[in-house]
Parts: sequence; C-alpha cells; structure tokens
Amino acid sequence: MTNSLPEIWQQTLNWQPTDSQQAQFQQLYELILEGNRQLNLTRITEPQEFWEKHLWDSLRGIAPQQQFIPSLQVGASVIDIGTGAGFPGVPVAIIAPNSTITLVDSTRKKITFIEKILSELALTNAKTLVARAEEIGQQPEHRQKYDVALIRAVGTASACAEYTLPLLKQGGLAVIYRGTWTDEETTALENAVNQLGGAVELVEKFTTPLTNSIRHCLYLRKVGTTSANFPRAVGVPSQKPL
Ligand code: SAM
Repeated sequence: MTNSLPEIWQQTLNWQPTDSQQAQFQQLYELILEGNRQLNLTRITEPQEFWEKHLWDSLRGIAPQQQFIPSLQVGASVIDIGTGAGFPGVPVAIIAPNSTITLVDSTRKKITFIEKILSELALTNAKTLVARAEEIGQQPEHRQKYDVALIRAVGTASACAEYTLPLLKQGGLAVIYRGTWTDEETTALENAVNQLGGAVELVEKFTTPLTNSIRHCLYLRKVGTTSANFPRAVGVPSQKPL
C-alpha cells in the first residue's frame, strides 16, 4: 500500500511504524480489499486514500496534540464502538500491543470478518463482540470497565457520548471522531456530556496530510459516575438525543 510516508507519520504524530507494524498495515489493506468482494466494508480502497482516511485518521484520533494517549503505551483497556471493518480499533491494536482492544459492532458479519483479520495479523491483544452499545453499557462486565472508548462514524455526537461514557472508568477518555464541527455544537454537546458524568476536555481540529480534509476529534473525560438511566434502551440515544 504505502511504505513511503514515514516522514508524514513523523511530522504529524511524532512517531513511525516499525517494519512489522508497516507489514501489518499492508496485510490489513489487502485483507480489506479481499473482504470487500463479498461484504460492503468500505468505499475507501485506493492505496493512498486508505492510508489517509483509515490508517492515519484512526491513529491521529488517539494522538491529541500529536502525542499518543500515554496509557495506551503502558497498557490500557480500550473499546471501539461500531468498529465496522475495524476502524479505528484495528490500527490502534497494531500500534499499542500492551493494550487490550475490544472491537464491538452490532452486525455479526462485520465481526466475523474482523475475527479473520485478527487471526491473520496475529493480533492477540484484540477481541470482538457482537452487541449494541446500549446493551453493553448496562452490563456489569462492560460498564465502567474501560480506560479509553473510541467511536467513529456511528451517529450524532450526543449518541456517541451516550454510547461511550457509561463504559468508561472514572478518569477514562472517550474519543469521538468527526468531520466538520462547530463551537455551537460543542456548547450543545456539553449539556449531554454533563448529564452522562463527563466533561468536554478538548476539541481538536486538524487537516489530513494528503488531501487537507478537515477533521475534528472530541475528547470527553469521565469526571463523575454515569446515572443508571444511561445508556437508554436500544435506539433511544439516536432517536431522542440528550
Ligand atoms: N467505525 C467504522 C469506521 O469509521 O470506518 C465503521 C463506521 S460504520 C458507518 C458504523 C458501524 O457502527 C456499523 O458497522 C454499524 O453496524 C455499527 N453500529 C451502529 N450503531 C451501533 C450501536 N448502537 N452499537 C454497536 N454498533 C453500532
């Protein structure tokens, strides 16, 4: 796919993949192209576009102010909600071998595909779950158990906050990946986040390195506890946003 961009990794994330991580990225790309023949996994299949919109974007989200979230290197418990074809969770599992990544999606066939990826890439630090965020947010084995929750392209920011914050331990961090975003949206989101026991810690705007597309990441800190009323029943967070 693309072995030729070490300087961009360095400039934008202050980091470079090892040769074996680079080989895993390449293998991931090839497996997704192959999987796309049977499943509608992604429209992003051109090599450079895949690098920018899937690999780089996934990793830029876990690097606020261009530094990887420190707990990921030490060993954090991470959950990726609505992972689809494995983004951002699979690239995160590749670069953070000390962390455990739980990849969740409500669609069985996507999780079956990800299981193949994990096996082929020998990623023993990642596991999968077919479930809805609203269900696991109320289950003792998942509620308040994670240090970091990632969520990309799974609905409104308010629904994403309701899916992720109940899953976090106190002090944990939710990362909501967005395209465009405004200050007015931050103000509106703050109300929802406060109700969920969180606080908006940082909103970071950046441009992607190859096509200069606008991106935002919202970093929500779990500062309190989440009321047992949240998350609400399946479908409610998206239909009746907080
Ligand atoms: N995160 C991936 C990405 O950015 O490429 C996939 C995004 S895809 C547009 C949204 C995914 O979220 C789908 O695979 C869908 O099945 C899953 N999803 C939507 N709502 C969900 C929920 N409440 N709980 C778990 N998964 C959900």
